[in-house]
Amino acid sequence: MRFLPALTALSLTTLGVVAAAPPASAAGAPGLGPTATGYGGAVATVDATATAVGLDVLRKGGNAVDAAIAAAATLGVTEPFSAGIGGGGFFVYYDAKRRSVSTIDGRETGPATMTEDYFIDPADGLPYDFSEARVSGLSVGVPGTVATWEAAARKWGTRSLAEGLRPAARVAERGFGVDATFRQQVADNAAAFGQFDSTREIYLPGGAPPAVGSTLRNPDLADTYRLIAKQGSGVFYRGAIADDLIETVRNPPVADDPTGAWAYPIRPGELTKADLARYRLRFPSPTRSDYRGLTVYGMNTPSSGGIAVSEALNIIEKGLPGSASATEKLHYYLEASALAFADRNRYVGADTSPQTVKQLLSDRWAAQRACRIDPGKALTKPVPPGDITASGCTPTTVGKPVEQGQSTTNLTVADRWGNVVEYTFTIEQTGGNAMVVPDRGFLLNNELTDFNFAPTQGTAADPNLPGPGKRPRSSMSPTIVLKDGKPFLALGSPGGATIITTVLQVLVNRLDLGMTLPEAMAAPRASQRNSAGIQAEPAFRARYGPQLTALGHTFGPDVAELGAATAIEFTRGGGLIASAEPVRRGGGAAAVVRPRR
Ligand code: GLU
Repeated sequence: MRFLPALTALSLTTLGVVAAAPPASAAGAPGLGPTATGYGGAVATVDATATAVGLDVLRKGGNAVDAAIAAAATLGVTEPFSAGIGGGGFFVYYDAKRRSVSTIDGRETGPATMTEDYFIDPADGLPYDFSEARVSGLSVGVPGTVATWEAAARKWGTRSLAEGLRPAARVAERGFGVDATFRQQVADNAAAFGQFDSTREIYLPGGAPPAVGSTLRNPDLADTYRLIAKQGSGVFYRGAIADDLIETVRNPPVADDPTGAWAYPIRPGELTKADLARYRLRFPSPTRSDYRGLTVYGMNTPSSGGIAVSEALNIIEKGLPGSASATEKLHYYLEASALAFADRNRYVGADTSPQTVKQLLSDRWAAQRACRIDPGKALTKPVPPGDITASGCTPTTVGKPVEQGQSTTNLTVADRWGNVVEYTFTIEQTGGNAMVVPDRGFLLNNELTDFNFAPTQGTAADPNLPGPGKRPRSSMSPTIVLKDGKPFLALGSPGGATIITTVLQVLVNRLDLGMTLPEAMAAPRASQRNSAGIQAEPAFRARYGPQLTALGHTFGPDVAELGAATAIEFTRGGGLIASAEPVRRGGGAAAVVRPRR
């Protein structure tokens, strides 16, 4: 989201930041627009304040990691329903000196006591309704975000985590302007938020969502950031914040007189202080594949993002005829996506073996899957997953597709030395589990609802069932594409399982359909996640619906918008094109250190 003119300007001034991009907002507001071109470093996020904070760090000599941490911490204040220290995420980093891509897996973990039937109601033996599981202590996994920022700062940053948290603490204390997107997110969550005093106090002042144009302050979060700045992540995982977090999970702070009625009982969770103390980041190798002479790096398990994006790209590369029309290209995009989702649902979870990952990313596998695509006729969906033990186009039985929510946020940063950060982080649903940790000012995640509540793969094993200390499968797809070993494009998006298709579609738009990056980002989106109907934005259906329907594709109900991506393209001579959404989720904000004149 992009914040309103006056308050954005105020925030930027108080932060000592001068807007670097020309006025370009869709609403006619001064400040940062969705596209910025130039040199010397760039930032793209969904929010003008966060982008301005990141840009300020770059200008003052910080590197991409320093700027990413400062911007991310700011998003925890201004985009609190999408991401923050109550959640987790995946950090992908290109190190210009080493010319290598590394990742941090800061995904949430389940409690040590978690068993396969964790989300089965003992009263009737059936899975909980999603909303019942979401707004509960059960859904909360150990958050990985504070550990991620601390590790990134130590490993690759030039500034401490304490410095990284400072501007965000200031924004939390002084406040920021509420815009329509923010207000709407509260309104959509009013029944869930209204159950908890601690959440009501901040987000339902006077019992209603804050007015557009009002200033929202979160002094508790400012204090929490300052405490972490002083004492490091220990206070979060083993100290006073850990105590309060566990108390919230095990004894949810339900209000005596809730605002509105919540349809479900609020169940306590099982997480313990020992679970928090035991939390460890992982540093998996990125997924890696080639596409049209470029090298695509993505996030490995427990995310399915890198695997699914790369498998789909490989299938497109194998199958798509050189002379294809735009419709044929989109046909292949949709078919490859459905096939990749079938395989992801069957094979990808936190414990997927490196051997299986390698196989799913191989050209041989892509050929086995691409041979199922008919250039003249869409496959009947859902398509069966492939049998990775067989050769040829051999399907096995059908697995049920799994859907996810629409929260999360993404940011992209590059610095003058050529380092790049692509970072997607989340608290899962918009508003997480709806519980603010009392006196700490941050919402908890409901990430454990990313597990499958019950087996989805028939007689085959389901790779994403709950387990002790296990990480739920994610779709987050922070992606860095290299050309001749140097950054060419970095991108990512929120949007639950649609993250995979949004990242894939922006890549196809840019690399196959000849669009510029800003065009590729703005173009209408469609998502085929191996279900009967394509989920599409109305403009996509209007433009391509007749041609794709003629090929046998079916559309499901339209969806207003898919994703809220950010990206940076690296052009010749050190040029940068920073790109955020022009419209989706209220429009994002891109900036460069030295704008091109
Ligand atoms: N929890 C989701 C995932 O990890 C992201 C949620 C969303 O973007 O809505 O894939």
